[in-house]
Amino acid sequence: MQFRDLKTQYQALKPQIDSAIQSVLDSSAFILGGPVAELEEKLANYVGCKHCITCANGTDALRLSLMSLGVGRGDAVFAPDFTFFATAGAASILDAQVILVDIDERTFNLSPGSLEEAIQRTLLEGKYTPKAIIAVDLFGLPADYPQIRKIAEQYHLKILEDAAQGFGGRIGDRRACSFGDIGATSFFPAKPLGCYGDGGAIFTDDSRIADRLRSLRAQGRSSSSKYEHCEIGMNSRLDTIQAAILLEKLKAFEQYELQAVNQVAKWYTERLSAAVRTPFVPEGYYSSWAQYTIMLKDTETRDRVQRELKKKGIPSMIYYPFVLHQQKPYQGMGRSDGEFPAAMRAVRTVLSLPIHPYIKEEDVCHIAKVILENA
Ligand SMILES: *Cc1c(COP(=O)(O)O)cnc(C)c1O
Repeated sequence: MQFRDLKTQYQALKPQIDSAIQSVLDSSAFILGGPVAELEEKLANYVGCKHCITCANGTDALRLSLMSLGVGRGDAVFAPDFTFFATAGAASILDAQVILVDIDERTFNLSPGSLEEAIQRTLLEGKYTPKAIIAVDLFGLPADYPQIRKIAEQYHLKILEDAAQGFGGRIGDRRACSFGDIGATSFFPAKPLGCYGDGGAIFTDDSRIADRLRSLRAQGRSSSSKYEHCEIGMNSRLDTIQAAILLEKLKAFEQYELQAVNQVAKWYTERLSAAVRTPFVPEGYYSSWAQYTIMLKDTETRDRVQRELKKKGIPSMIYYPFVLHQQKPYQGMGRSDGEFPAAMRAVRTVLSLPIHPYIKEEDVCHIAKVILENA
């Protein structure tokens, strides 16, 4: 059994994908060829944003987004303590001060209450200027943007949506990647919409930001002349081959994969919700299920369940075994575990189960049985 079955997916889409790759080889337009612009247009339409700018990976998408907002030394950027390292790393590498915030235990996403406290504390201390909030759509579920938006407006902060795991999620009719001033996603193969290597994209409705992002991904070059540069940028492009693959995969994603993976989540929840903490999806929210993450009653139970699953050949993962304030680059901030009770409970008890659009109900049954016997 696979944790995320990319082989079965490839077999299902092989003729289209092979011919998409072949046509890029035939055209030999490997960098910024036709499929890149076509994909940017399709993605912008799907997400419901005016502009989509593709780039080399999700980490660059975050970093370029922060650069386009002018985030740098002296600025405070608020980010959840429980997320993949890149969320915070993308701000720190620009010399911004990352202020870590606890999560909402039910959704694993940024806690609006803790966010507001952190902003007030930062203002009171007066050492850094609050500039932006990075909200993460962890495991595929959009963060609480209605509340986060209110706080951002009150304190005049920009919102960067880290939708690396969130592509395809919704709140009401609005799609993930469109909730912030800027949205960033990743096409790493195991993400909800993945390519066959690295890739990323940035979304915004702001034309000025979009222009700056197009410049920043190409060394900061001017829009009028290829060898004239207005600022220091990066080299961060999506390969044409990856764009061609994504055009095919986006069709399957829209037509049936997103529904299929939601069906799988339902099968799990039906079988498990009486015995363990299953993922909470608030009313009106829709997840793209980058992960299906349960919480066990304590670390010992979690580790036992994982061991028993492994004995039966069932892969599972601990996303994440560490919170950010415990990671070496952030230890110097002097934050204690007690300041992040929800994030700490998460690292101690979470377990992510195999989920992807091609998993069968009988596999879910089998996995659930092992969990129920050991939880
Ligand atoms: C995967 C991920 C990233 C980084 O994406 P890459 O394409 O691997 O650079 C950033 N944030 C979160 C929450 C992620 O899960």
